[in-house]
Amino acid sequence: MFAQRLSATLQSIENAASAAQRPVPRLLAVSKTQPAAAVAELAAAGQLAYGENYVQEAQAKRAQLHALPLEWHLVGHLQSNKAELAAEVFDWVQSVDRPKLVTALARHRPEQRAPLNVLIQVNIDDEASKHGCAPGQVAALAALIAAEPRLRLRGLMAIPAPHPEPELRRAAYRRMATLLADLAEAHPQADTLSMGMSDDYALAIAEGATMVRIGTALFGARG
Ligand SMILES: *Cc1c(COP(=O)(O)O)cnc(C)c1O
Repeated sequence: MFAQRLSATLQSIENAASAAQRPVPRLLAVSKTQPAAAVAELAAAGQLAYGENYVQEAQAKRAQLHALPLEWHLVGHLQSNKAELAAEVFDWVQSVDRPKLVTALARHRPEQRAPLNVLIQVNIDDEASKHGCAPGQVAALAALIAAEPRLRLRGLMAIPAPHPEPELRRAAYRRMATLLADLAEAHPQADTLSMGMSDDYALAIAEGATMVRIGTALFGARG
């Protein structure tokens, strides 16, 4: 069942990219609340990159699935007191939004692992309820990350407000693309724009997403 959903989703991503004349983005399968067995099934169908919202949940799945060559991304908010564990568990942290996290992740990234890939989360619609830094804080945060040898600055992530009008969502995605272009001028290694979820990834792809984060369309509705 998951294999079928995976191929349908990959096809639909390809169609969206081709319609917008954009490169095909990477698919991050968001596996929060899903059991390790579901991840294993999707992995058998060829999907190797997974996103999780909670550090301990990811730690447990990663341990259960350690025999598989999976790549784990943190896409949920990271509390400072979980940064040490996150630096050990993940290959990417997409939710870096303040200086304190930068120092904590850098200090705790294990020596024997590759540098931790980091995205800066931007609160692109300036929502009081959302995590992420303000667009005006990206450059300073990027400079801090780039100065840490145990971290690798890879780009930006956003969760725009769920505007019912697609044009408003699309405008937020467009602002993110501009922010990434500015960031990449100073930091050419920042090549990743993580945006778009199950219900609007085509819009995000049209505006230049290089990674879409999809849960429901792959695994079904979360219980
Ligand atoms: C849950 C989640 C997703 C996936 O959302 P779906 O609507 O299930 O595709 C993507 N990104 C983040 C940050 C999430 O928390």
